[in-house]
Amino acid sequence: MIPTLLGVPFDATSSFQRGAALAPPAIRESLRRASSNSWTEDGIDVAEPGRLADAGDLAFPPDRFWTEVVEHGVTRVLDQGGRPLILGGDHAITFPAVKAIAARHGKVEILHFDAHGDLYDSYEGERLSHACPFARIMEAGLATRLVQVGIRTLTAHQRAQIERFGVETHEMRTWEGAFPVRLVGPVYLSLDLDVLDPAFVPGISHPEPGGLSVRELTAMIQKFEGPIVAADLVEYNPLNDPSPRTGLVAAKLVKELVAAFERNR
Ligand code: MN
Ligand code: MN
Repeated sequence: MIPTLLGVPFDATSSFQRGAALAPPAIRESLRRASSNSWTEDGIDVAEPGRLADAGDLAFPPDRFWTEVVEHGVTRVLDQGGRPLILGGDHAITFPAVKAIAARHGKVEILHFDAHGDLYDSYEGERLSHACPFARIMEAGLATRLVQVGIRTLTAHQRAQIERFGVETHEMRTWEGAFPVRLVGPVYLSLDLDVLDPAFVPGISHPEPGGLSVRELTAMIQKFEGPIVAADLVEYNPLNDPSPRTGLVAAKLVKELVAAFERNR
């Protein structure tokens, strides 16, 4: 199964600032940027034929509900023999994406990197908000485990949701630098760019100080062991990233995710 990019240009549930829908083409552009090359740190050339396919971006026609579009799009990549590497979009897309993956592979173990728990029952009246995907996933019984890393914004409500769903939340305040878990799979890896410290990634919508460095996150991806069936990279906002420093971080993470797919077939 070839890692296959699938762009999901959707940010209609973003609570603070739109812009994440612009991310997929911007990440592709950063991947091709002549300032770097197409190799992973451990020696895979992702530009080599057969290493990384691209299914393009989803279109959202007005007569179809957006979750159905995402679910369908991810299913199509699976049908074509690809391992989805999904480029968001905001974090709302993870619920329909996991739904499609679980329909094919059975319940998944989710490794979730984020500054935020994204466990709200509803947010500003929206139950499919980018602040809610993991509440929906756990309620629907799509995951046997939800392991969160990098969290540093928990409210009392979200702590109650963690209890309710039995989420394994590794908060930044107690994180000691080691990779926290071993997963047996199938694994869905969900990577919200704002898990990184905003010093490294200005191009996000919800900058939260006190996060991981690019090196710390890269090392965790490189050390990850467990069968990954799909991954997403969400919440890159090119509107806040003229340089494009954050786009280059996103491109690097895409490459390292391809390497993680290779290591964990
Ligand atoms: Mn998130
Ligand atoms: Mn976040």
